[in-house]
Amino acid sequence: MNLDEFLISDFEQIQVLRDEAHSVLAFIAIHDTRLGPAFGGIRRWTYRSPVEGLEDALRLARAMTLKCAVSGVPGGGGKAVIVDDPAMDREAAYRLLGKHVQQMGGRYYTGPDVGTEGSDLETVGEETQYVARASGGALAEVTALGVFAGIEEVARQLGHSKLDEVHVAIQGLGGVGMQIARLLAEAGAKLSITDVQWDLAEKAAKDLSASLVEPGEILSVEADVFAPCALGGVIHDLSLQTMRAKAIAGSANNVLASPEHGIELFRRGILYAPDFVINSGGLIHGALTHLDGSPPPETRIRHIGQMLKEIFELAKKAGRSPEQIAGDSALERLHEKPAIPFMP
Ligand code: NAD
Repeated sequence: MNLDEFLISDFEQIQVLRDEAHSVLAFIAIHDTRLGPAFGGIRRWTYRSPVEGLEDALRLARAMTLKCAVSGVPGGGGKAVIVDDPAMDREAAYRLLGKHVQQMGGRYYTGPDVGTEGSDLETVGEETQYVARASGGALAEVTALGVFAGIEEVARQLGHSKLDEVHVAIQGLGGVGMQIARLLAEAGAKLSITDVQWDLAEKAAKDLSASLVEPGEILSVEADVFAPCALGGVIHDLSLQTMRAKAIAGSANNVLASPEHGIELFRRGILYAPDFVINSGGLIHGALTHLDGSPPPETRIRHIGQMLKEIFELAKKAGRSPEQIAGDSALERLHEKPAIPFMP
């Protein structure tokens, strides 16, 4: 995918943040706020070019819009991306972001994402009140609980009533992936796990009695479920050739390199749990805590399993991919409202 493929006109606001003295370059993308304020965390990552960072911000912000709409959260999609650079002053970057978020006056509410730690959020919080107070760890735990509920439903769809009959291959053992691995191990699932941080993977394999797999081999494990919990874009033309799992259900955002890959998975009979549904636990928790002043009950997060069940059934009936069904349902909700941006 490249910038040409984005309907830039679909975005309400795209900001470029620069502070040359501190080698800071960051983007804030606000996709659609007709349902409410934009929610989306801050990703700090090393990109091959600034344009790749901008594309990531756009893609992630758009996914947040779908996530809010499909899960009934009165909010929209936003995302911040810091283009990491060895010369960058990290504190200055988060401070600049915080200042911009504050200037938006509540149109955008931010929080953690890959590369952003609790101490970074503290820095952002010194500049703005519009940042999730919950630590990244707390949100990751809620996200993991939702993904776990989703994997339980996926297992049922594959004909397994209990997880101890199920083999899950997990890619990425960070905040979310490690917690999913723990929940699955407790439920008796057979696990194959990997992470590019090899020491971390080795230790987890020992602690959880899981099989340790090289990062490049995880897709070819003959598992029931492949759980992508690292970065997006893992399902593409090449990886589809090596995929051995019967289903895909994990926490990563933008798992499919393109929507066509979702259709191809459906054609091949590989069950795909749309990422913006299965990984919505952290968003539901963070957004509703902000909007209602208290966190939603755990049942709201576990309901992700039921949402997926309905999507899978509709997909089967309609002969369309779960991704298409979930996307249509999100767009329907969105288009019920006139395209008027949220103003606090
Ligand atoms: P994290 O940075 O804590 O963990 C990512 C892990 O993946 C790291 O341990 C990293 O070493 C590993 N990794 C990176 N590339 C890899 C590869 N090619 N093979 C194997 N391992 C690899 O991030 P996280 O918070 O756990 O989030 C994981 C994914 O879930 C991300 O895509 C994120 O956008 C998505 N997500 C997270 C949340 C949340 O609440 N944290 C919510 C929704 C979606």
